[in-house]
Amino acid sequence: MRIFAAVGDSGLMNLVLLGPPGAGKGTQGDLLSERCKVPKYATGDILRDAVRRGTPLGREAKRFMDAGELVPDAVMMGVAREALHAAAARNGFVLDGFPRTVTQAEGLAELLQERQAVLDAVVYFAVPEEELVRRLSGRRVCRDCGAICNIAADGPEGGVETCGTCGGRLEIRDDDRPETVRNRLRVYRENTEPLLNWYRESSVALHQLDAVGTVEEVYERLLDRVGCS
Ligand code: AMP
Repeated sequence: MRIFAAVGDSGLMNLVLLGPPGAGKGTQGDLLSERCKVPKYATGDILRDAVRRGTPLGREAKRFMDAGELVPDAVMMGVAREALHAAAARNGFVLDGFPRTVTQAEGLAELLQERQAVLDAVVYFAVPEEELVRRLSGRRVCRDCGAICNIAADGPEGGVETCGTCGGRLEIRDDDRPETVRNRLRVYRENTEPLLNWYRESSVALHQLDAVGTVEEVYERLLDRVGCS
């Protein structure tokens, strides 16, 4: 297998997808993870699953998530440690939604150092704020099959909201409601955007990706920068 720019001398692909909520990190991360056969760990998905199952982690995280606030760094470091500890992560990983603060980025660097691993690249998904608001407020999740779609992009305008995959009922994620979306974007600007400079000043390769366009267009640009074949 030939690996492109994202991959270090180790031959493994350890990637972070960085960017605001609604930038498409999840969708593109899934495509990359499937193509490169490395696991994707999305901390938002891990937390939502914990909330659904009512675990201690879920109970602790829920109030922060519902308010669009960040779950405390100490809790998130536990989540990241567990994910990266999984045997599957030894051959590379794609992180989506982590790190989100400088403290988390420092923690991640330490975690990797303990495993004598390095981060090969950070991909920053750039999307203007108006587009993010449009995408997040149009995002729907199918109650039955979990498919994600966007009624602004793929849905019948003003029509019945049913899942294009299974015909199930679509729901809006609690934290995609307009009041919470605005707070999530503020939290992103204040806590996560500073990571761009932090990574710029580090030795990790930082790729800026124009993440406006169709899924296919953005994926093509992503593969231009990182990927495997
Ligand atoms: P996401 O699906 O990535 O947008 O995450 C949904 C919510 O989970 C966020 O709004 C936060 O409340 C929480 N969350 C996910 N990842 C992190 C993280 N790395 N640090 C703090 N909170 C997080």
